[in-house]
Amino acid sequence: MPFSAKNAYSSIVAEDYTDPHHDLVWASKVPIKVKIFAWLLLSDRLNTKANMLRKHIAQSAACPRCQDPHEDALYLISTCSYATQVWTSQGLQAPTSIDDLLQHPPLQGLNPNIWPSVALTISWKLWDSRNALVFRNEDHSHRTTLRNIVADFSLWVFRFKGSKRRKTIYSLSIGFTSYPQLFPKKLML
Ligand SMILES: [Zn+2]
Repeated sequence: MPFSAKNAYSSIVAEDYTDPHHDLVWASKVPIKVKIFAWLLLSDRLNTKANMLRKHIAQSAACPRCQDPHEDALYLISTCSYATQVWTSQGLQAPTSIDDLLQHPPLQGLNPNIWPSVALTISWKLWDSRNALVFRNEDHSHRTTLRNIVADFSLWVFRFKGSKRRKTIYSLSIGFTSYPQLFPKKLML
């Protein structure tokens, strides 16, 4: 089978078709690399400091950003004060569990089918920002991370085609009009 991102995704997650998140991740509009990230995150296979300590790869499980003692998956996307700030600055409540991430109560007026794509884009960029710090010593402000979320979101929202896409944009305009920082004006009605 020739290599493709879709084949890679299918072969990686094939064992997990019973995963309750599988359909939500697969149906989301994020790129394949983010779907693979989602699967690693949701199945706790991400190389967080806690997982690396458990595998004896790291000396400590401390958060690379704030030195809190336990960087696990939930900490990374929600509990770290940096992550919490990214969610709350957009009027969103940070997820309370990993299982809760894709089921998170969406904002009023937002089509619930869109929520997984939004939640995964935010989580992906939090991971991206954490890796920029760890591997390139780049300390992104939370505003920079928000700008990166907006940039990704602006790309994937156009994956919704035809009437579905219009409905999506309509839903977003209702749900996010009060959060123009996260959702650019050109997507609003
Ligand atoms: Zn932290």
